[in-house]
Amino acid sequence: MQKIAILYDASQAVLSTFDLDEVLQQILAIVHDYFHLSNAAVLLLDPETDLLCLRRQIGWQNLADVKLPLGKGITGAAAEQKRPIYVPDVEKDVRYVRSEKDTRSELAIPLMVRDEVLGVLDCQSDRVDYFDPETIDLLTLFSTQASMALQNARLYSLERRRASQMEAINAIAQQTTAVLDLKELLSKVCSLIQKAFKVSHVAVLLRDEEDLMLRAQFGDLVPRLSEGGRLPAGKGLWGEALSSGKLMIQNHVNTTPDLDGLYLGTGSRMCIPLVSFGQTLGVLVLENAEAGSFNRADKQPLESVADICATAIQNAHYVDRVKQLAYLDGLTGIFNRRFFELRMAEEIERARRFGAGMAVIMVDIDQFKRLNDEFGHLLGDEVLRQFSSIFHQQLRKIDVVCRYGGEEFAILLSQTNHHHAVNVAEKLRRLVETWQFPGVPRPVTISAGAASYPEHGTTRDELVKAADRGLYAAKQAGRNRICVAPTAPRDSSVRTPGAKEEELAGKP
Ligand code: GH3
Ligand code: MG
Ligand code: MG
Repeated sequence: MQKIAILYDASQAVLSTFDLDEVLQQILAIVHDYFHLSNAAVLLLDPETDLLCLRRQIGWQNLADVKLPLGKGITGAAAEQKRPIYVPDVEKDVRYVRSEKDTRSELAIPLMVRDEVLGVLDCQSDRVDYFDPETIDLLTLFSTQASMALQNARLYSLERRRASQMEAINAIAQQTTAVLDLKELLSKVCSLIQKAFKVSHVAVLLRDEEDLMLRAQFGDLVPRLSEGGRLPAGKGLWGEALSSGKLMIQNHVNTTPDLDGLYLGTGSRMCIPLVSFGQTLGVLVLENAEAGSFNRADKQPLESVADICATAIQNAHYVDRVKQLAYLDGLTGIFNRRFFELRMAEEIERARRFGAGMAVIMVDIDQFKRLNDEFGHLLGDEVLRQFSSIFHQQLRKIDVVCRYGGEEFAILLSQTNHHHAVNVAEKLRRLVETWQFPGVPRPVTISAGAASYPEHGTTRDELVKAADRGLYAAKQAGRNRICVAPTAPRDSSVRTPGAKEEELAGKP
């Protein structure tokens, strides 16, 4: 009767907390204080791997990272058979796996809730047949209370985790829908997920032609790839997530060579495809330094997060597209004047910082009004489209060709000096003069003015005005030629008396 009272007290003690570590500590304290056992341990079953992992112990000297498969040893056998196993003399039992040299008898009691094994309470003694039937009964009874306490702690921590994940999902949804700039959106997503899900690093890989491009990342691991870096879309865990459209977990990255990895020191990794309207846009990658850290239980909340991100990415894509349309010329499909002005400012800033120079060429088609009059406006439109494609093909990828307005084009040459700019303009003039425009049985010519940084100016206005002055001079001198305005003065409204436009080529 007294023992039952003790047991009641013990049960109250283990059930008094929802904290898993405290529950484990209480269980072992009771085993030690009430049952006078000096060597005891609690192993918990990992449902992912079916391994019994040592979570807490008293007495043993050198017991560290023990992981037992179900069925292995007396502990594993108790878990597998779902019943307590008592071995009065371990020397006589083939199942015994030695962990402590002084152990003579062992009692392993499965910790169960209904039919589910949560773990094992393992008790050992340095005396043969130490456990009498009454102690075994009481310990078994106690272990049912202990199991309940463990289950409560587990549910409580799961519940708390869920609640914090729900909060995170809400925060991500709220904070991402308002962000329409893709770059800003992606870095925000990475940092929110990294904090909310407590992982080492988060990255977003988006499809880019045949590859995946690292578009944003946030965390503590050492990156191997910087933003803008590419990975083959068909390889790695991200490749699998992308092609299968399913969440993928790799819980032991260090055990396999990870030469193509994103970070140094990744222990485990999760890849979630980013799908919007049935289209896989890329992969959300979560990486942890520790191995074995990802759990299928987090699948649902993380998939919700990935869905939110995919929608936000799609929205940002649409906004990008709309913005792009605002910078394109409707007739020719090349950039318009608004884009030219934007890029000019950027190029001037770059030239100022790095001293690599830049230049502008203003091109105007000669007698275009007459061409329209002779061959019709529709053919005129077609000629304008052809001009766009000729210029586009002749220039480098880093140069920008814009339709400045009407039959006028502006060309921005990046990292170019004065001399080279004039050569480019001259090359274009010659090419055009010999070009056979379908439907136009005569040559079409252009006039152009060139200006360069810093010779003709250091602001957008100064450079455009200087190029325009050159263009005006070319027209005045009889068309089909390139002219360069005098390099001084900077203020184009003031002309130096006697300064003459420099004609570089062309014939009347
Ligand atoms: P100049 O050699 O002095 O440049 O003579 P021009 O006839 O080319 O110059 P002007 O400024 O007198 O006329 C420009 C013409 O370009 C008038 C306009 O009808 C034509 N134009 C402007 N935009 C378009 C367009 O989008 N399509 C067509 N077909 N013609 C256009
Ligand atoms: Mg014109
Ligand atoms: Mg013209």
